[in-house]
Amino acid sequence: MTTQAQTLLNDPVTRTRAYFDGEWRSTPKTFDVIHPGTLESIGAVADCTAEDAGRAIDAAEAALKVWRKVNPYERGKILRRWHDLMFVHKEELARLMTLEMGKPIMETRGEVHYAASFIEWCAEEAGRISGERISMRFDRKRGFTSSEPVGIVYAVTPWNFPAGMITRKAAPALAAGCVMILKPAEQSPMTALYLAELWLEAGGPANTLQVLPTNDAPAFTAPFMVDERVRKVTFTGSTAVGRLLYTQAAKTIKRVSLELGGHAPFLVFADADLEKAAREVVGSKFRNAGQTCVSTNRVYVQREVAAEFTRILAEKTSTLVLGDPLLDSTSVGPVVEQAGLEKVQAQVQDALERGATAVVGGAVDHGLFFQPTVLTNVAPGSLILREETFGPVAPIVIFDTEEEGLRLANDSEYGLAAYAYTTDLGRAWRVAEALEYGIVGINDGVPSAAAPHVPFGGMKNSGVGREGGHWGLEEYLEVKLISMGID
Ligand code: NAD
Repeated sequence: MTTQAQTLLNDPVTRTRAYFDGEWRSTPKTFDVIHPGTLESIGAVADCTAEDAGRAIDAAEAALKVWRKVNPYERGKILRRWHDLMFVHKEELARLMTLEMGKPIMETRGEVHYAASFIEWCAEEAGRISGERISMRFDRKRGFTSSEPVGIVYAVTPWNFPAGMITRKAAPALAAGCVMILKPAEQSPMTALYLAELWLEAGGPANTLQVLPTNDAPAFTAPFMVDERVRKVTFTGSTAVGRLLYTQAAKTIKRVSLELGGHAPFLVFADADLEKAAREVVGSKFRNAGQTCVSTNRVYVQREVAAEFTRILAEKTSTLVLGDPLLDSTSVGPVVEQAGLEKVQAQVQDALERGATAVVGGAVDHGLFFQPTVLTNVAPGSLILREETFGPVAPIVIFDTEEEGLRLANDSEYGLAAYAYTTDLGRAWRVAEALEYGIVGINDGVPSAAAPHVPFGGMKNSGVGREGGHWGLEEYLEVKLISMGID
């Protein structure tokens, strides 16, 4: 009997060889990439070692010498072709992302657009990288700044946006004249390899973007952290790993960008449009089965409207379709792996034991599929109000005053994204200013922050630096002062 899994194994969209030191390379060891929908392997990928990392750094050093001197407009043209090729291969890329990490195909198609938009923006921006003329205190002096590429960049990315988290880093780095060595997440290395293939097809010179999957991230990463030639580390992932890399990077004083965990509060005030607020909670909570760093993690509702809002949110949540992520009709797919599922189960169990009620869902459906869930009466101190959930569960907590709502919303070690719904203009400003988060959505639950021209990043334990817009490009540029005497 042919199972679905057998037809998925070695699907034509899958990619298995690493790209480094100018070649597509197989390695003695491999590791399997598992489709979360069926728990079967879709292929065995090259498992790169610390020795391979060393070869990649040597190759990057040579590539940097050439790439940093390529005319920025020419760099922009190659980026533009890379962007266009993503659309030529849109359906394959979307399918590959869904196979690797289980995000519904309707969302991975959207991710192709999202990921490509960063390349397009940086393609246009490459030629605009410039410096400034500075007025000097002495008439016999002239001052200028020039922006220069930081150099070799080591990038480590997560699985939850297998393409978007890569292009948000690679596009500005390559536009700036840097070269990148990328270690993708173990769960989604094939999308990264596909993107490297398209970069080369677009005319990207050899070794400007090398992609090395590995199943041993700490050992593989070690050579980068001690090598003086690697001038920057850019990381998206958990706060625990970000903290580790931050410490390791200190030895060679590398520049560091960290996009880390989040725990977004969503405040619904009594004067809010409840229909719209509930619609946006659904969007920001259940997208990607809740596995998004800016996902709503805590819903705070003002007492007067709590019952009505809960009713509307429950109704909308019940219409979500949990199922095969490869089908167009699916709105919520599986979570990525067993450990993630167990974390969601533990948080829901903890909340229920402390007196919460599941008004929708509350349990595993099958395999890695967790039912879209709404919890009410969630007690203060519950795990779900503190730890990142990364699953399709919306816990509701009631508050009374604006002051109390803000205090609860800011009571987190994280500071990535926060949302508030209100029709009171004064309150909107007060709340936007008081929220200690890098991204604030006012009457906007799926913020336009997911766009190439705006700054994306967190405060507190959510990270260092910003991606997107000129802020994201500057992360890959050094500013040099040139002071000149003219007498
Ligand atoms: P993770 O930190 O476990 O893994 C992320 C990456 O780090 C993977 O490539 C992994 O192989 C690598 N890694 C793990 N240990 C390492 C080590 N010791 N040395 C070097 N690399 C190592 O995170 P995850 O569970 O895969 O991803 C989910 C996390 O990412 C969540 O916390 C989420 O909030 C965060 N995230 C943040 C953003 C953002 O922009 N702020 C975006 C997406 C995801």
